Amino acid sequence: MKKPNPVDVIGGIATAVVTGIVAASLADHDVSSLILLSVICSMLSTGMTLTERVAKAATTEVYRCSAQGCSVEIRATRNHSPERLAVLRGMATDHTRHGSAAA
Ligand SMILES: [Zn+2]
Repeated sequence: MKKPNPVDVIGGIATAVVTGIVAASLADHDVSSLILLSVICSMLSTGMTLTERVAKAATTEVYRCSAQGCSVEIRATRNHSPERLAVLRGMATDHTRHGSAAA
């Protein structure tokens, strides 16, 4: 079961509110229901796509090696267990653990 994170919830609410406002104002102008429906659909899908991107960016951890000249970095999404994230962070930040892989 995936628990919705706050960004998903906020993005979803913002999308729904904006879509509702636009739909209401278009309805005021006697726009046909077919056009109204297509506008609503495209706004919802755009909003959800943006939300997904923001949510993904907000839930990705980047661990970089601090050794000079080493470009090793590990990106991990936060839906891994804390133990696993700690292992990944350890691998990225401890240069001796990946030193041979770097140029
Ligand atoms: Zn390194």
